[in-house]
Amino acid sequence: MQVKFVDLSRQYQELKTEILSAVDEVFASGWYVLGPKLEQFEYEFAEYCGVKHAVGVGNGSDALYLILDALDIGPGDEVITAPNSFIASAAAIARTGATPVFCDVGDDMNLDPAQLEAAITNRTKAVMPVHLTGRIAKMEQIQEIAGRHQIHVVEDAAQSVGASRKGKRAGCFGVAAGFSLHPLKNLFVHGDGGVVTTDSDGLANRIRQSRNHGLKNRDEAEFWGINSRLDEAQAAIGLIKLRHIDQWNNRHREIAECYSDALRGMFDVPMEGEDESGVYHRYMIQTLKRDDLAKHLAENGVETKVNYRVPLHLMPAAKELGYGPGSFPVCERLAKTILSLPVYAALDARESEYVVEQMLLYINQ
Ligand SMILES: *Cc1c(COP(=O)(O)O)cnc(C)c1O
Repeated sequence: MQVKFVDLSRQYQELKTEILSAVDEVFASGWYVLGPKLEQFEYEFAEYCGVKHAVGVGNGSDALYLILDALDIGPGDEVITAPNSFIASAAAIARTGATPVFCDVGDDMNLDPAQLEAAITNRTKAVMPVHLTGRIAKMEQIQEIAGRHQIHVVEDAAQSVGASRKGKRAGCFGVAAGFSLHPLKNLFVHGDGGVVTTDSDGLANRIRQSRNHGLKNRDEAEFWGINSRLDEAQAAIGLIKLRHIDQWNNRHREIAECYSDALRGMFDVPMEGEDESGVYHRYMIQTLKRDDLAKHLAENGVETKVNYRVPLHLMPAAKELGYGPGSFPVCERLAKTILSLPVYAALDARESEYVVEQMLLYINQ
């Protein structure tokens, strides 16, 4: 049996008729950018997250950049984030001219509030926790510390549409949150896409303007903006998928439970607190024999991935920041031990059982 790590075409086959008709409607309308589909998508996405505003943008990286820019973060400022993320988290900070500052993570693989305070300086303007794998960071503690130091909390919610903590969904904890709709995220469109959520009218207005060249109207730009918009066809696809996301997230949770029940005790499996509901955008186990296990699985038709193999502070791009091996021990240990198993809504029970079977075979060989 072959089990792919992701299989985007399966979801397409399920929704093909709906998607083609929605896209056809947009194409026939002749209105391709900043139109009614985007407005409706923004309305429904905001409602889904439980926030006042959603602003559709070109991708998740721009979503984060536009938030930081709208908070007037720039050269001389520092923004704290987790070192075990996708490169875009740190790159969005660097793009504003500010300095990315890393803070190690805890057992939940997310920014560790116990270490946050030590990373704050008088240049710190914001902390940007990443809800890695679709598990929400310890936001109450992070918000309490940020409040005391009067710094902004921005969520990197790229992997976490629909994840909740204490009954609140990703996107409504920080002053604003950036989501990605890239094909490798849990809610994806058929190309690049992103969303900013916020309760602030000021931030929402500013970002609506800055995603469209800073234009206030056809003729006047009030400040330098960029071009980063979620186009009508992608917004139409996003609208269709938003109606399925809870069902898909639930299926992710089912697969995760099946993996954890079978593998607990043999591997370090992801944990979940009583008041959390993660969306398992990725399901990561930890084992010292990671590379050997991945090889065994690959030889037996199970595709896996490492998210992520090189910590951000050890990337060549981050060299000037002055970190080195040993700077963030938990993150660096994770980079050597984590392995992501296939999780997607269209993965069937035979396949998830086969993954478990191969994992157990490896242990017992
Ligand atoms: C994917 C991702 C991003 C960037 O999103 P894009 O849409 O690819 O630009 C940012 N942060 C995290 C944690 C991500 O996983």
